[in-house]
Amino acid sequence: MRFDVVVVGAGPAGAAAALEAARAGLKVLMIERGRGAGSKQVYGGKIYSYYLQKVLGDLKDAPVERWVRKERLSLVDGSNRCTTIEYEGRDSGAFTAYLTKFTAWLVDRAVSAGAVFADEVRVDSILRNEGGTSGVEAGGERVEADVVIDAEGVNRLLLERLGLAERTSTRGVALGVKETIRIGEKEVEERFGLDHGEGLSWILMGGFTGGLPGGAFVYTNKDTVSLGLVLYLDSAVRSIGEPVHSMVEGLRTHELLWRYWADGDVVEYSAKLTPESGYRYVPSKLAADGLMVVGDAGGLLLNLGYTFRGVDYAVYSGHLAGRAAVASRDRHRPSEEVLRELYEEPLRRSRPFRDLERLRGVERVMEAGDRYFSTYPALAAAAMDGMFNLEEATPSVYESLRSAMRESNVSMLRAMLDALGTVRAI
Ligand SMILES: Cc1cc2nc3c(=O)[nH]c(=O)nc-3n(C[C@H](O)[C@H](O)[C@H](O)COP(=O)(O)OP(=O)(O)OC[C@H]3O[C@@H](n4cnc5c(N)ncnc54)[C@H](O)[C@@H]3O)c2cc1C
Repeated sequence: MRFDVVVVGAGPAGAAAALEAARAGLKVLMIERGRGAGSKQVYGGKIYSYYLQKVLGDLKDAPVERWVRKERLSLVDGSNRCTTIEYEGRDSGAFTAYLTKFTAWLVDRAVSAGAVFADEVRVDSILRNEGGTSGVEAGGERVEADVVIDAEGVNRLLLERLGLAERTSTRGVALGVKETIRIGEKEVEERFGLDHGEGLSWILMGGFTGGLPGGAFVYTNKDTVSLGLVLYLDSAVRSIGEPVHSMVEGLRTHELLWRYWADGDVVEYSAKLTPESGYRYVPSKLAADGLMVVGDAGGLLLNLGYTFRGVDYAVYSGHLAGRAAVASRDRHRPSEEVLRELYEEPLRRSRPFRDLERLRGVERVMEAGDRYFSTYPALAAAAMDGMFNLEEATPSVYESLRSAMRESNVSMLRAMLDALGTVRAI
C-alpha cells in the first residue's frame, strides 16, 4: 500500500492535516486506533474559533453547543468560601462543543475531501531508514508514504521510539478527569443565567484540588454540563492525599456547585493526560526527513490557568503540516531541510508558537503551588469577609486586606512580588 501522506491519529490535529492535504488532491490515509472518529478524545469543553475560522472557513455546520458569553473565575478556599470574577461579553470568540463530535465532524470533512480513514488500527511504528521516513507499520502491514504526519497526541510513544521525544514523565503533563451531566436545555439556561444558545465557561481554583497545582472547570453545553479537574501530575504524584476520582466526586457534590446539577444524570466519565503548558513539551525537532509533528505531540498547547488553547492550536498546526505536504508534493520523501522550511519554521514564527514561548513563565507560577492554590484563595476570601461581613466596625479595603494577610500568614511584600510575577508571566 502506498500513499502520498499517512497521518497517525485522527484527533483535531490529524484530521486538519488530512483535510488540507486531501483537499489539494494528495492521496491521504488517516490511521486511528480508536473505534470511529473522535472516540478517544477527551477535553474540558471550550474551543477558540479564531484559527478554526482562518483554516476551515465559517463554522456554520460545526457541532457547536453554545457560544460562550460568560466567563467566570473563582477562587475557593478550604472552608468553601468563594471569590468570583465574572465577565460578560457581547461578542464571543469561543464556543463549547463535545470534542468527540467536533473531531468526527473534521474527520468527515477530510473523508469528503478524499482522505481514507482507517479506524481501530494502531500504528506500531514509524518506519525510518537512511533515506528518511518511508511510512508506517500498522495492524501488521507496512504502508509506504512520502510524508508521515505524527498527530498521535500527548503520549507520543512513536516519537519516543524514534528518539525524537523524551519519555513522558510526570513533569510537564497534567491529568484531566471529567464528567458530563445531563440536566436539560431550559435548566442550563435558567440555572446559569444564560439566554438561549449562550454558554458559560467557569474556571475554579483552590479547594477542589486540595491546594495542589491545577484547577477545576465547568462548561455549559446545550442540555448538559461538563465538569472536571486538571491536576499537575508531578506535584499530584508527590503529595496527593486522595484518589483523583474521589476529587471529581467532591467537585460534583460540592456545596457551592451541587445545586446546579443535583437532579442530573451523569452521562459520561473520562480521563486523559494533557501537556501542562506546551513550551517545555515541544520536542527538539518538529520536522525530520519525511516527518512532521503536529498538535499535542508537538507540545502545541497553551494553558494559562484561566484559558486553555489546545484544539485550535492542534487544528492550526495540522493545517500548516498539510499545507507543507502539498507544497512538497513533487519531491519523493522531502528532506528535513525542506520540511523545516515549509512547516517547522513557519510554525515557530506563527503567533501560537510565539505565545507559547512568550508565556512560558506561567509554568513557574503553577509550580509555586501552595501559595496560588491554597494561600491566595484563603486570602481573597478573608479580605471579602472583612469587607462584607460587618459587625461594629467598617474596615477600609486596605484594612480588610491587611487583616486577611495576617490571617493567611502572607507578607505584603510576598503578595506584591507574587502578584507582579503572575501578571508578568500571564
Ligand atoms: C482534561 C482536558 C481538558 C482540556 N480542555 C481543553 C479545552 O477546554 N479547550 C481546548 O482547546 N483544549 C483542551 N484540552 C486540550 C485538547 O484536548 C488537546 O490539545 C487536543 O485534543 C490535541 O489534539 P491532537 O489531535 O493533537 O491530539 P488528540 O486529541 O489526543 O488526538 C490524538 C489521536 O491519535 C490517536 N492515536 C494515538 N496513538 C496512535 C497510534 N499509535 N495509532 C493510531 N492512532 C493513535 C488517538 O487515539 C487520538 O485519537 C484539554 C485536554 C484535557 C486532557
